[in-house]
Amino acid sequence: MTGNRNWKIRGDKVFIQTYDRFPAAMVRGEGCRLWDADGREYLDFLSGIAVCSLGHSHPAVTEAICRQANTLMHVSNLFYTVPQIELAELLVAHSFADRVFMANSGAEANEAAIKLARIHSGADRYEVISLAGSFHGRTLATVAATGQPKFHEGFEPLPKGFVHAEFGDPAQLEGLISERTCAILCEPLQGESGVRPLDTSYLQAFRKLCDRHGLLLIFDEVQTGMGRTGSLFAYEQLGVIPDIMTVAKALGNGLPIGAMLTTEEIATSLSAGTHASTFGGNPVAAAAAVATMKLMLADDFLEGVRAKGNYLAGRLKDLAASYPDLATGVRGRGLLLGLVLTDKGISLGRTIVERLFDKGVLVNFAGNTVIRCIPPLVINESDIDEMVTKLNDVLKEI
Ligand SMILES: *Cc1c(COP(=O)(O)O)cnc(C)c1O
Repeated sequence: MTGNRNWKIRGDKVFIQTYDRFPAAMVRGEGCRLWDADGREYLDFLSGIAVCSLGHSHPAVTEAICRQANTLMHVSNLFYTVPQIELAELLVAHSFADRVFMANSGAEANEAAIKLARIHSGADRYEVISLAGSFHGRTLATVAATGQPKFHEGFEPLPKGFVHAEFGDPAQLEGLISERTCAILCEPLQGESGVRPLDTSYLQAFRKLCDRHGLLLIFDEVQTGMGRTGSLFAYEQLGVIPDIMTVAKALGNGLPIGAMLTTEEIATSLSAGTHASTFGGNPVAAAAAVATMKLMLADDFLEGVRAKGNYLAGRLKDLAASYPDLATGVRGRGLLLGLVLTDKGISLGRTIVERLFDKGVLVNFAGNTVIRCIPPLVINESDIDEMVTKLNDVLKEI
């Protein structure tokens, strides 16, 4: 009795039911494939929600983890550790930032960013403006920053100091700026709410507003960062440099790690004792992240992401053209893409995802608007063709 059904029954008995899970217990992964407890194989276009970007069980990452686990697992941030220093050096060398704080998750990295923006701006300036449709995490502060009321319901009162601007209207956002405002926080491309890119001109307007009003610009690159959009960080393609940036998801290719990055000048506002994490930048997670980053920075890797992203986008666009009653097109950047559904398509969104799952392909229905494709960045064209063929079959059936 080790099959999916048995694991599902056992899990449903003991977990707090916060997740709506696929009826599969995953037991093994390799590259872009996963296998469940019944031995079924899946082509993974989810990557553990944009986490396993180098694919499952990447040998170089696994080796780095094993070597570090055999050497030193944890000492806390009362000490320096080599992998954490190497990781911070890599992040600094390949971004606008000069300094890094290590956390364990995206929400924690964003908490650090919010705390930094507040302490840097002084006691009277604490308000963060974020966008409708944004997603910044599930802790109380990051859920308050998240611009989706469905994530707030039942958890009020939320921490004060979070204001949401309408999506796509810089003038409306400017109207929300007051003497209390300290920062504008946004994802360069909204992932969870349906793969919605922010126009370059919109992001440039944020930069100008921040400069004019003395605010900090915070980019939440938890999902867009680490190569996902075809550059190491999405901001590189936008001609807009933030003051603070957060990354997490793919940073450790599956080990939990996040980071908050900023400039020398802003970093001085967090002195010893002002912020901390017991596990943040843990040696094993940091070693995984160092190995991950080195592979992402290797020749042609990011170029490959852009090429495969263009290929997948083209195939999805053709699919949308074949089923105009279900899909209107494709949006996103690199290998963070969404097949945009029509109203009829949206009403069938869950069915599309379930039918694809039955055919052994994993995608999700993001923001109740798109079929989101976030495959491992090491995907190849024949895997993409397999996914598109099966998606075509599903769209034809329904
Ligand atoms: C996933 C995500 C988060 C939250 O990350 P966790 O590791 O789940 O806390 C925050 N921001 C964005 C943009 C995300 O996609």
